[in-house]
Amino acid sequence: MKRAEMLNRVRARKKVWDFIIIGGGATGVGCAVDAASRGFDVLLLEQSDFSKGTSSRSTKLVHGGVRYLANGNLSLVREALKERATLKKNAAHLVKIQSFIVPCYSLWQKIFYGSGLKIYNLLSGKYGFGKSKILSKKETLLGLPNVNSVNLRGGILYFDGQFDDARLLIDLVKTAAEQGATVLNYAKVFELTKHGNKVNGVRLKDDETGEEFSAQAKIVINATGAFCDAIRKLSNAKNEKIIALSQGIHLVFDKKFLPSKNALMIPKTGDGRVLFVIPWHGKTLIGTTDTPVETAELEPKPLESEIEFILSTAEQYLKESPKREDILSVFVGIRPLVKSAKTKNTAALSRDHTIEINDANLLTVTGGKWTTYRRMAEDAVNQAIAKTDLPSKHCVTKDLKIHGFCEDSERFGDLAVYGTDADKVQELIKENPNFFGEKLHEDLPYSGAEIVWAVRFEMARSLEDVLARRTRVLFLNAKAAIEIAPHVAEIMAAELGKDEVWIDGQIENFTELAKNYFFDLSS
Ligand SMILES: Cc1cc2nc3c(=O)[nH]c(=O)nc-3n(C[C@H](O)[C@H](O)[C@H](O)COP(=O)(O)OP(=O)(O)OC[C@H]3O[C@@H](n4cnc5c(N)ncnc54)[C@H](O)[C@@H]3O)c2cc1C
Repeated sequence: MKRAEMLNRVRARKKVWDFIIIGGGATGVGCAVDAASRGFDVLLLEQSDFSKGTSSRSTKLVHGGVRYLANGNLSLVREALKERATLKKNAAHLVKIQSFIVPCYSLWQKIFYGSGLKIYNLLSGKYGFGKSKILSKKETLLGLPNVNSVNLRGGILYFDGQFDDARLLIDLVKTAAEQGATVLNYAKVFELTKHGNKVNGVRLKDDETGEEFSAQAKIVINATGAFCDAIRKLSNAKNEKIIALSQGIHLVFDKKFLPSKNALMIPKTGDGRVLFVIPWHGKTLIGTTDTPVETAELEPKPLESEIEFILSTAEQYLKESPKREDILSVFVGIRPLVKSAKTKNTAALSRDHTIEINDANLLTVTGGKWTTYRRMAEDAVNQAIAKTDLPSKHCVTKDLKIHGFCEDSERFGDLAVYGTDADKVQELIKENPNFFGEKLHEDLPYSGAEIVWAVRFEMARSLEDVLARRTRVLFLNAKAAIEIAPHVAEIMAAELGKDEVWIDGQIENFTELAKNYFFDLSS
């Protein structure tokens, strides 16, 4: 997958595309995989890097959503559990079964959460990841050695899925490209073109060359998440907003705060939410919050009150609880919440996600969650076909293996997330064993070979791309990310043929950005 080749395709294109998809997050890339694998001609455009938005900032769970159980929304949970199993089946190298323990501090909690998670089990039916179980106090302490043991009465063990969101996204981009889609990052859509009063294409700007292009399509899909109202406004300035925004933060700490393979699930925080403490890439990730925000931003900032909320909740549940100075990284994502009452949806296919085709023929797909991206894409492409003269073709993604698929990726050790590409990443080390083979930082598993791989084969263009999304250094340890930035910039410059000025600019930009993730520096 080469960016120059993708850009040339856009440059040379005279014909009308079947689909133009705006937004390179889970929803847009899911639509690209779906449409391209049905045999349609697809162009996907992302204004920044793939998964720059919410799709790299999730809690990393592939789940049915135990939270929805409390609302009695069983069909939604059942649908998500089915998608959980489909994703595990098609991306086995990235989706793992994760055990969770809910600590219980009263008999009533044991009965209540025990029954709830039994229902969760039953709803998953043949798609189950493992049976839930009621644990004694002793078993709970064995499973969660750092859990607060004062008044502990036992716990509930249950299973869900866990993944690396940005890695799955890049493998989906590759899958879309393999199915024939043209996928371009750093290509912002700034205008929608029209024939009469119907949208028939886009105007886009290539961020690297500054060139502007027009591209036409039978249908344009708006999959821009938190930015979807801005794109809807481009189609009709009078369009009212259909989404409200809410941000969620995560804090990352050392593994010592969760010294087990089990995750901890706090079923009811002070503000009535669910909070997860989960093991992720050798660290402990805690999240998330739910804070209404006014504007969509690519780099949302954590609020002091959100950090305080996570630290104080963790303090209630952990014997040795993390302090502010233990924070290795803070990352923030924005949820687009659908204001269903205000929208004239032509097809609200599920209460979880919404598809709108407005008067100008722009299809907007939003809401939902990472776990259900495939189903959202299937629904959106079906709607698009129904609205256009595109031939009816069946969705094939239920059985489509995602790039890198392999059943036993653990055998690749630190390179497990690459699945079948792991051998090829390993091969790169032979080119330059010292430079590419050495670890980038003692606290992290990543090597120079992964940087080279990301630049050569995954369309990574900047230090941020490789440190935030191709590897997850920035999300795991922001200080370490700043420390290795100069070395990584040198590796990239050699690959991209860039000079010292480029290196200095990259280091400066990245260090500035990384301060948002490293609490001490940003405060
Ligand atoms: C805090 C938090 C935790 C979550 N945890 C989970 C979880 O554990 N499991 C789960 O299943 N789901 C989770 N979710 C939900 C999940 O992350 C989202 O549903 C999903 O990532 C949304 O993807 P998206 O593609 O719709 O949006 P995004 O990922 O935001 O993608 C939209 C893209 O559109 C691009 N764009 C915008 N405007 C333009 C333009 N003019 N031209 C070109 N491109 C443009 C943006 O740059 C962006 O990359 C979580 C969400 C949040 C906020």
